[in-house]
Amino acid sequence: MRWLTRPVRSQGRHLADPPAAVPTRDRNGRRWAAVVGVLLLTVSTVVGIANSSKAAEPTIISLTFDDGNGSQLAAAQVLKANGLVGTFYITTSFIDSSGFLTRGNLQSLAADGNEIGGHSVTHPDLTTIGAAAARAEVCDSKTTLEGWGFTVRNFAYPFAAENATAQSAVRDCGYSSSRGLGDLRSPDSCASCPVAESLPPGNPMVTKAPDQVDSTWSLADLQARVTDAETTGGWVQLTFHEIAVGTDPSLSITPALFDSFVTWLAARTANGTTSVQTVAQALGQAPGPSPSPSPFSDVPGNAQFFTEINWLAAQGISTGWLETNGTRTYRPGLAVNRDAMATFMYRLAGSPAFTPPATSPFIDVTPQTQFYKEITWLASQGISTGWDEGNGNRSFRPLQPVNRDAMAAFMYRFNGSPAYTAPGISPFADVTLQTQFYREINWLASTNISTGWDESNGTRTFRPVQPVNRDAMAAFMYRYNTAFPG
Ligand SMILES: [Zn+2]
Repeated sequence: MRWLTRPVRSQGRHLADPPAAVPTRDRNGRRWAAVVGVLLLTVSTVVGIANSSKAAEPTIISLTFDDGNGSQLAAAQVLKANGLVGTFYITTSFIDSSGFLTRGNLQSLAADGNEIGGHSVTHPDLTTIGAAAARAEVCDSKTTLEGWGFTVRNFAYPFAAENATAQSAVRDCGYSSSRGLGDLRSPDSCASCPVAESLPPGNPMVTKAPDQVDSTWSLADLQARVTDAETTGGWVQLTFHEIAVGTDPSLSITPALFDSFVTWLAARTANGTTSVQTVAQALGQAPGPSPSPSPFSDVPGNAQFFTEINWLAAQGISTGWLETNGTRTYRPGLAVNRDAMATFMYRLAGSPAFTPPATSPFIDVTPQTQFYKEITWLASQGISTGWDEGNGNRSFRPLQPVNRDAMAAFMYRFNGSPAYTAPGISPFADVTLQTQFYREINWLASTNISTGWDESNGTRTFRPVQPVNRDAMAAFMYRYNTAFPG
């Protein structure tokens, strides 16, 4: 998938019109500062005085990341290791889909001090879809991200495509700024453009930035955007997409290059005039409240299935345990037993009215057993009827862990045992047509509730007899609710 192409509009503008950019932007005398700076630099180089010629005006670098690509999570760890933060412009409909960040990832990014910004819902060219649709794309991205708990103030145009309509949409939806691309000097374009945006920007609805970083950029190219800006001071937003090998062929740089640049940049801040800030910080926006943390003390922002566990809690499906120190815990690594599964499913069904039978249908469950109501509800729905122990006795085995194959069967029955034809050839290396719950396992996979694992040998596995832990259970329920809303 290529969500972004080079911003054709701004490229074309520069190719058509490079000299016009120069005289229009030095009204504040910055060009003189640049000229003097260059002269001083020359002198200082000759006499061997390092750094004395740096412009006194601060240089602010913002590292921005577009679209919410999954490879940006590792990049954020590189930032964190170097004490830096960035701005992540999120296309909201991409989140939680394959190859992209999850809501849990966004929480952990924000918890580390990174900014979450808007980048539309579906990444359209806002200049081609009409005013109403553009407005919906821009406003809905903000509403969604705010609904997820983030303070969202800044936007970046998909494809850097903007016009008066798009600018109005951004302003009317309550964003304070929006980033363009290609209006500052770049490695292979805009040679006569300025090297930095002013602060505050001349037009906050189209802030100037170099071309997006792509696979043609070298370490020297990245460094030059910083050192060039240091001659005048001002603001440079660098825009990254994939920081990975083998993803997008053009809009990616290698993790090694990113690491080298960030390490160099972090050291560069020691000069006292260059700093790395989020877009919100660069624009002087007051920090917003932190996103709501998990109600569970053992579910940190970077926990796997953070979003799903918090969703489960918000739905009242699991309230966890109240610990003696007053905190609540979820115990994500604990295996789910059959009694707890009954309870999760009963609550997922909306806790329907149900009067449990006076006499237990199971020899190992009494009306005093914890979750008796939920267990007998599950049985009444035919979701789990337990085991025939002979002599007319049935058992439920409430404390037995639930494996993934049984989980598939529970979910299939919970869904009303819909008509479904399983594939004639198993897609899973560890599941055969004779495997118990073959049909249910494949139904579950067909709903994307659990699609199994890609193994390093190129096969897919389902791991049917692996126990389901509570964190994975939360993910199953969250995805079930997504697949079968209401
Ligand atoms: Zn984009």
